[in-house]
Amino acid sequence: MAEPAGIDRDWPLARLTTVRTGGPADLFARPASPEALVELLAWAAAEGQPVEVIGSGSNLLVADRGLRGLALKLDGELTAIERRGERILTGGGARLPSVSAKAARWGLSGIEFGVNIPGSVGGAVRMNANAYGGQLARALEWADVCSAEGLSRREPDDLGFVYRHSNLDPGQVVARACFALSEAEPEQVKATLAEMRARRREAQPSGIKTFGSTFKNPEDARAEGRSAGQLLEASGCRGLELGGARFSDKHANFVENHAEATTADVLELMAEGRRRVYQRFGIVLEPEVQLIGDVEWPADWDLDPNG
Ligand SMILES: Cc1cc2nc3c(=O)[nH]c(=O)nc-3n(C[C@H](O)[C@H](O)[C@H](O)COP(=O)(O)OP(=O)(O)OC[C@H]3O[C@@H](n4cnc5c(N)ncnc54)[C@H](O)[C@@H]3O)c2cc1C
Repeated sequence: MAEPAGIDRDWPLARLTTVRTGGPADLFARPASPEALVELLAWAAAEGQPVEVIGSGSNLLVADRGLRGLALKLDGELTAIERRGERILTGGGARLPSVSAKAARWGLSGIEFGVNIPGSVGGAVRMNANAYGGQLARALEWADVCSAEGLSRREPDDLGFVYRHSNLDPGQVVARACFALSEAEPEQVKATLAEMRARRREAQPSGIKTFGSTFKNPEDARAEGRSAGQLLEASGCRGLELGGARFSDKHANFVENHAEATTADVLELMAEGRRRVYQRFGIVLEPEVQLIGDVEWPADWDLDPNG
């Protein structure tokens, strides 16, 4: 199969992530239509090249050695945001906060929660992103998912949504999505967004290089309802530094790249935080952040049950 046009080599991925760490992708392309996306996915499958899609890179950690395979970043019509009556059609690469802001201007309610999630629509579907009780599955009507075989339309019930997870594999890319919203007063929706932004500013650090929540909130009964951030804080992780990475002073479940951290620094810090929580509470934290490439976990990542 002929190589599709527009594939770059050795493309640095760090700048496509919010934490700004990690190495290059062997291959990189920016498909701008569902057809171009399917062509790239089919070519990669035929060539045996692993594929990863980068959304806004806001929940991603790329291996320092980079990715042996093809990284995709959606472009062109795959980033569009359009109104159709009470619906909004978006590309999978559209930024979720922009969708929320446009919805407010158009007087459409139902996707306000996206204002504080600095990801793309496709990344939000893949991660089943959520904030302040808003539910993606409630607003999402369908998503067009491209794979090496072509395009198929999926409704929320077909996406296997559970906490911060869907059933999409790396070779399955959300190319388009449709949100069914309801009409509301634009000023009212804008006021809700402003209030949500203000609440977020109180609770989370801003202007730092981070990928948001590092670990998922545990379902373990021993957590007694405490979040991953509260467990890390109680284990003395707030402000803890390793190399150029540290757990944020403001939110212990946020890792901050404060001084040219490498992905290895971030992984060391994650392993240390996880070990401390395990030793103190017996709870094993699982990463929320998604890993790309050949990531090497520190030797102490696997917790010794005898502690
Ligand atoms: C400051 C900050 C605050 C955050 N707050 C929240 C929050 O309140 N709630 C919350 O849920 N998350 C939050 N996050 C995490 C993150 O924004 C979400 O997980 C978001 O949905 C990730 O989207 P993305 O486009 O950045 O995906 P990326 O980080 O680029 O990728 C994440 C995963 O999605 C996959 N992916 C990306 N695009 C597509 C696509 N088009 N099709 C299929 N798969 C795709 C990637 O391959 C990867 O596996 C926060 C992050 C930061 C930095």
